[in-house]
Amino acid sequence: MGEFDLIARYFRRPVRRAALGVGDDCALLRVSPGCQLAVSSDMLVSGRHFLPDADPMALGHKALAVNLSDLAACGAQPLAFTLALALPDADPHWLAPFSRGLLALAQQHDCELVGGDTTQGPLNICITVFGEVPATSASSQALLRSGARPGDDLYVSGTLGDARLALEALRGQWTLPPALLATVAARLHQPTPRVALGLALRGVASAAIDVSDGLLGDLGHVLDASGVGASILADGLVTLMACRGDTLDAVVPRQHQQACVLAGGDDYELAFTAAANRRDAVAAAAAASATPVRRIGRIGSTPGMRVIDARGDTVTGDWQSFDHFG
Ligand code: ADP
Ligand code: MG
Repeated sequence: MGEFDLIARYFRRPVRRAALGVGDDCALLRVSPGCQLAVSSDMLVSGRHFLPDADPMALGHKALAVNLSDLAACGAQPLAFTLALALPDADPHWLAPFSRGLLALAQQHDCELVGGDTTQGPLNICITVFGEVPATSASSQALLRSGARPGDDLYVSGTLGDARLALEALRGQWTLPPALLATVAARLHQPTPRVALGLALRGVASAAIDVSDGLLGDLGHVLDASGVGASILADGLVTLMACRGDTLDAVVPRQHQQACVLAGGDDYELAFTAAANRRDAVAAAAAASATPVRRIGRIGSTPGMRVIDARGDTVTGDWQSFDHFG
């Protein structure tokens, strides 16, 4: 199978939104009047972000999901993406499920594959996504990292910590019952980009980021960009895990569950802030997007981040030394 057969078979699909898709020197995108183009790239490298024998269908899903997650964090509507792919060989047993996983998620979000590049080399998947956000010449509705203000509430979507726990279990650190392992492995291999929530939070959230490297680290970027600090309530953090409960408690110490939630990474949830008088609007955005959202803390004017108990005393834990992927 030659390069062009490969592209035609696995990646060339009719486009509806774009003016021109795969096949020419450039793709042509239509951007709605009154919108800005939002652009983001993410690369997945074999051996670094996934194991060489990773399930290709899940990998196709994840490669696009992590990119859609960036659009979600900005409140952008997905439009299209390009795929730059380095492959050791043109193996149909890998390409078919990879393109199936990739294009299924693309279709779910009406985000079209419009171009890319294909070359022989160590497996490497680089996607660039394009989305749009309403804007005028004076202002944009995009959610940014820089908008958090003292007094704002701090929220996260969905569940946190499961992807990290899955990674540790797959490396043999924990022996999880099969049902639990399936739950956390799904979170690691097939994350759900929170696109609908990001859109619903336009005009509601003051700042947002997607949690890819761990809540504390990513929240730190919001705090730096906004020039503020935050306190996070320790109570209830472990209930943010999808696999929470007695079965998990029997295997993994709660301290470690907390560390997974705070510093785990690979969750692709949204962390965002909103003014305290917008709680109803946040609840409405969560309902409209059918996405669970939890208030976990507050923004303050003192720089830095504190994890506190119900009395306001600082809680310490092993998450400080919790290094992403070691
Ligand atoms: P060029 O040499 O002009 O860069 P290529 O020969 O690399 O173009 O690619 C031919 C067409 O196929 C282009 O439209 C390109 O965008 C598209 N393409 C190449 N690789 C991929 C891919 N992995 N996925 C989707 N489209 C691709
Ligand atoms: Mg090329």
